[in-house]
This record gives sequence, C-alpha cells and structure tokens, in this order.
Amino acid sequence: MADEVIGIVGAGIVGLAVGRELTRRRPGVKVVVVEKEDRVAVHQTGHNSGVVHAGIYYQPGSLKARLCTRGKALLEEYCAERGLPYDECGKLVVAIGSDDLARMEALHARAGDNAVPGLRRVGPEEIREIEPHAAGVAALYSPKTAITDYVRIAEAYADDIRAAGGEVRFGFEVDRVDKANGRLTVGAGPSAVTVDELIVCAGIQSDLVAGLAGDTAAPRIVPFRGEYMTVVPEKTFMVRGLIYPVPDPRYPFLGVHYTRRVSGDVEVGPNAVLATAREGYKRTDVNFRDLYGIARWPGMWRMAGKHWRTGVREMYGSFSKNAYMRAAMRYVPEIGAADVVRAGAGVRAQALDRDGSLVDDFRIHRMGPVTAVRNAPSPAATSSLAIAEYVADALES
Ligand SMILES: Cc1cc2nc3c(=O)[nH]c(=O)nc-3n(C[C@H](O)[C@H](O)[C@H](O)COP(=O)(O)OP(=O)(O)OC[C@H]3O[C@@H](n4cnc5c(N)ncnc54)[C@H](O)[C@@H]3O)c2cc1C
Repeated sequence: MADEVIGIVGAGIVGLAVGRELTRRRPGVKVVVVEKEDRVAVHQTGHNSGVVHAGIYYQPGSLKARLCTRGKALLEEYCAERGLPYDECGKLVVAIGSDDLARMEALHARAGDNAVPGLRRVGPEEIREIEPHAAGVAALYSPKTAITDYVRIAEAYADDIRAAGGEVRFGFEVDRVDKANGRLTVGAGPSAVTVDELIVCAGIQSDLVAGLAGDTAAPRIVPFRGEYMTVVPEKTFMVRGLIYPVPDPRYPFLGVHYTRRVSGDVEVGPNAVLATAREGYKRTDVNFRDLYGIARWPGMWRMAGKHWRTGVREMYGSFSKNAYMRAAMRYVPEIGAADVVRAGAGVRAQALDRDGSLVDDFRIHRMGPVTAVRNAPSPAATSSLAIAEYVADALES
C-alpha cells in the first residue's frame, strides 16, 4: 500500500496552519500543500488589517467566537516562540451618537458572553487618555487586541511544514479532482498529485475548488474589495492603536477603522465594495467569468435587493476620497482627506447563501475524504491555529 498522503489546496494562512497541524499530529503521513501562486499569502492573508482580534463581535457559541479566542491565545504563544511581531496596542470601539450607544451596549453584553479579556466601557475622558485624538461619547476598550504580520506568520507555518517533511508546491493551480481506487487525483494542467484526503482552503476560490471535488454549489463566494488609505507620516502619531466604529450588525464587516501596523504606518480602511473580479484589487479589474458566476447566483439578487443603498454609499466612498474620509473623520477629526494617500486593497471572500444571506460564521464542510473550508472571513487569520485544530479533530473523528 502506498504511503498515506494528505493534500491541501491553498497556501494562505488557513491552508498552511492546517498543513502544519497535520504534520505535527500525523508524523507518518505526507502533507502536500498546493498553491497556484509563486509564494505564500498572495491573496487575503497578504492583504488584511493585521489585527489579532480578541473575540468582541461574534455570536456566543459560534465557531468564530470559539476559534477566535483559542486562536488568539495560540497565535500569541506562536509569535513569542518564533520571534514574530505581536504588539498588544489595544482597541477602542467608539460610539459617536445615540444610535451607536444602543448598539455598543448590545456589543458589550455579547463581548461579556465571549469573556473578552480586560474589556471595559470607557467615557469620553478615558477615550482621550487612551487615544488623545479620537472623538466619541463612549467606547469599549479592549486592551488585549493586538497587531501582527500575517505574511510572516504564514511563511513560518510553511517553514514548519517543510521542516517536518511536508511539501509546499507553488505554481499548481488545481483544475480537477478525480476519484479512483479509493484515492483522489488532484490535477493542475499536466501535473497531478494523488492523495488519500483533501482539504480545500482556497479562500476567494473556495466554492469553485470545492465544486471540483463534488461539493454543493451553496454557499457561493462573493468578492468584496476593501480599500485602504495610508496616513501621512506627519500625522501617524495621532493614532496609538486601533480605533473602530461600532459595527452595523446587519453586515459581517467591521466598518472603516484606524489601524496601526507593526511597521509603524497607520491605515484607514477597509471599506466594502462589491468587486468585479474575485482577485480584483483595483477598481478597473473585471473578470467576466467571475461576474457571470456571481450574476447567476440567486442569492446575489436577493442580497442586492436588501442592501443596495449601502452598496451605493460604499461605491461613492470608493470613488471619492473626500466622501471616504468624511465618514472616517467622525472618529479622528484631525485626519482629513489631505492627510491620507490611497494605499492597497484586499478582497474578502464572503460566502453568500442561496436565500441572499451573508454567511456569518466559519463554514467547514466534510464529504468523505474531502473537507472544504467554505467560509473563512475575518477573524480567520487570528483563528488560523484553532481552525487547524478543528479540521484535524474532524479528520480524526
Ligand atoms: C481587507 C481584509 C482585512 C482583513 N482583516 C483581518 C484582520 O485584521 N484580522 C483577521 O484575523 N482577519 C482579517 N481578514 C481575514 C483574513 O485575512 C482571512 O480570513 C484569511 O486570510 C483567510 O485565509 P485563507 O487561507 O482562507 O485565504 P487566502 O489567504 O485567500 O488563501 C487562499 C489561497 O488559495 C489559493 N488558491 C485559490 N484557488 C486555488 C487553486 N485552484 N489551486 C491552488 N491554489 C488556489 C490562493 O492563491 C490563495 O493563496 C481580513 C481580510 C481582508 C480581505
């Protein structure tokens, strides 16, 4: 009998964390991660806010709530062991008006259920002590929310896989999965690898790759571009840590926020604009195959019917720097449109069900020898090591 092989599609932070966990638990098994790009973390993992979330937002008992708390603890330990950046700069979730206040109180109760460490409500004076340039009538302060560098973490996971005898193979774009004699052949053009189990962690392409392996059409991935602005160096001192709005509970996105990076830069963003290509990092990127796929999905039209007003507002902010910063300035009034320059963007893989609902929780689906991570949006980078444990446990059960 051939040696046992586990294949993983995708060298983002989730696929690499899963690969690393499997090399640790099953030393006799060969782990092969295949990736279409020429390096790790090219997509979501390399285009995010770099925040290590403390678990404030998530439905108590959900996978997000459980795996974020566990993932944060594991990540902190991992960064300490490996000498990777991990800075507990803290986070304020700021209420500006009375609408915000009611939602902030609800969030506070939820964060209490999630046992977010050190979280407390602060008034305007304490807001100014923590972030002297922030506005707000009240805020939730999370002193344990941190920032890191997820590209370096993904590279470290890949090193761990190789050191344990596994492989990370680049330039391998999976275009078929065939089943024969109890094994799976995962193909990419003329290349192929035969595996006993397959784990799909393909991010923004996860529905398509899972479909190749026989998974259901739902949920479909809809790409939401998140554009960032960088604050000019003269004003970065105005943001010490992380300043967030109180999120709108109708959406899985957290709202445009001020983020200090481990490099010392400060960014504003990301917004959430429906993208015209799954890997469309610029407004002008259009992929007609992606657009056709999105337009054919019934859930897309149901979602558009419900949320078109927000969609139009986000698009306006995307085109107009003034409009973008007018909304952001409510939180830090002294940083305006003249104090930022357009920076990069990320594209979020957001799963959408057939009925038009945005899938909020992580969704991981097992079908015999194939496990598909179908929805792993934020805080999946924070949670990566815990998602890896969850997938590895499921394979053992
Ligand atoms: C703008 C933005 C801000 C965010 N901020 C945060 C944050 O602050 N904190 C946090 O915890 N999370 C954040 N997230 C979420 C986090 O980045 C993602 O949840 C996480 O990176 C998902 O990792 P992944 O491995 O599933 O996906 P990805 O990093 O997208 O990796 C998927 C990989 O699969 C590969 N692939 C796809 N198709 C194929 C194929 N056919 N064959 C081979 N390979 C394939 C891709 O090339 C890619 O490398 C943010 C995301 C975005 C976009």
